[in-house]
Amino acid sequence: MRRIHYISEFADSLSPEDIESITRVSEANNARDGITGMLMASGQLFFQLIEGPDEAVDALYERILVDQRHKNVMVLGDERGDLQRQCPDWAMRKVDLSLDAAVRSEPLKVILEASAAQFRILRNLVSTLERAMWRQLIEAEAEELDRFVKEQVDQSGSQPPGARD
Ligand code: FAD
Repeated sequence: MRRIHYISEFADSLSPEDIESITRVSEANNARDGITGMLMASGQLFFQLIEGPDEAVDALYERILVDQRHKNVMVLGDERGDLQRQCPDWAMRKVDLSLDAAVRSEPLKVILEASAAQFRILRNLVSTLERAMWRQLIEAEAEELDRFVKEQVDQSGSQPPGARD
């Protein structure tokens, strides 16, 4: 069994009919493939849970990743092993909070927005760390190279290559 939770952002604005169409196709495919889960839409964000046999979820996740209707897929959880299904009865249960004006859905909307915002911050931090790490490595390499050239020059007693009198 594999279970994935993720958040993603709408690529463009999607109508309730677009979301309904995704759900309809999902229900049919997932029932065929032994996948269950839920799909929540709110504002410009999706939150989805998919679970099922490893190969079926692997294949679905590949399709979801290249789907042009959304972008910036942020994985919140990816588990494998002997898992109990969390949504055993739903091939794909849709929850469209955009259609729900009820005050009770507000906390969910806020949590979804906050999770996506935190994930974006984390992603920026990781990319900053990565850039800093490369800079450190390159500087260390440059220092090493500099030291090597100086040693060679000292040993030969000659001018460094390219130096003029
Ligand atoms: P085809 O139907 O052959 O389509 C070919 C390509 O066109 C695919 O890349 C497809 O993503 C894209 N495409 C299809 N219809 C449209 C359209 N109306 N507008 C723009 N592009 C389109 N599918 C599932 O089976 N199960 C799920 O649980 C599931 N969840 C999804 C959740 C989200 C947030 C999104 C955005 C999509 C989800 N899908 C799901 C749809 C999935 O991405 C595939 O489109 C679908 O599985 C059909 O795949 P296919 O390879 O047969 O594509």
